[in-house]
Amino acid sequence: MDWSNLKADYERLGTYKAVAAAYGASVSAVGQHAREQGINPGYPGGSSPLEKLLQSALMKVGIGFTAGAYVGNRYFADILLNQAPIILEADGNWHKIHVERDAKRDAHLTACGFKVIRFTGAQLNRGADQCVQSVIDEYGLTPDADPQYVIRVSMMGAENPHWTGGPQTVACAQCGSETSRNNFRTTVKKPFCNSKCYGAYMSAHPEESPRKYKLNWDDVASRYKAGADPDDIMREFGIGKTTLYRHLRRMGVEFRRKPRGPYSGKYGDESRANFRRGHEQRRRNGLAPLQGQGGRFVRKAS
Ligand SMILES: [Zn+2]
Repeated sequence: MDWSNLKADYERLGTYKAVAAAYGASVSAVGQHAREQGINPGYPGGSSPLEKLLQSALMKVGIGFTAGAYVGNRYFADILLNQAPIILEADGNWHKIHVERDAKRDAHLTACGFKVIRFTGAQLNRGADQCVQSVIDEYGLTPDADPQYVIRVSMMGAENPHWTGGPQTVACAQCGSETSRNNFRTTVKKPFCNSKCYGAYMSAHPEESPRKYKLNWDDVASRYKAGADPDDIMREFGIGKTTLYRHLRRMGVEFRRKPRGPYSGKYGDESRANFRRGHEQRRRNGLAPLQGQGGRFVRKAS
């Protein structure tokens, strides 16, 4: 088969499917040859096959449009008619997963004075011409005298309304060399080339450090050695158990042996007294002693 005219045929027919039908080949074969010849299917960014169906139907009746128009200061419309604020949307499968988002978008555009009309892929594949005709009938559109068809082929760079002129360079706060603004993000709101420059700067300017706790670990160690409750130390210095013991180990502080066994907790003496009191009470009342250990009830296996 001769694939040399593929590019021209694809541009004329609009979709791989149409090309495949004209060539008597499979769609995947067309796609493969298109890839080999470097033919860009045109979307995302450009027009999808469904949008192309709508476009060619509009061209047939001579109604000018802008494809990929920036509308409502926020969205890109598939097709915006030139003669009326009417937006035609070709809903592929993507729409099915974004029904909610698209509804929000429609509400915004309607509020901006646009009429949004959506066509499903099935409707467009069955007959894009009828779809366009229904719009013409409903809104009384007439063919333009000099129809303009503006088709955005790319959303990149200067063609995108959000374009701010490309990467902007700023001077690194540490070494002063040029770097991209987004190169290395930090919490200190200063640009750096990389983490190396960031680290060097932070060592030189500890007062700008975003760290919450600047602890004097010697204080922590001396408090611990003086016999303070680890819970109190943790609360006081805002650190966790792991951090506390890691640093104590690092400084060679000998851990206090943790008391274990019954009544070993903070309220050990109190609970021991309570247990004794209950025990005495039961004995006085002629009840069997509780099977208890460490002040806790132990359920008897039965
Ligand atoms: Zn630097």
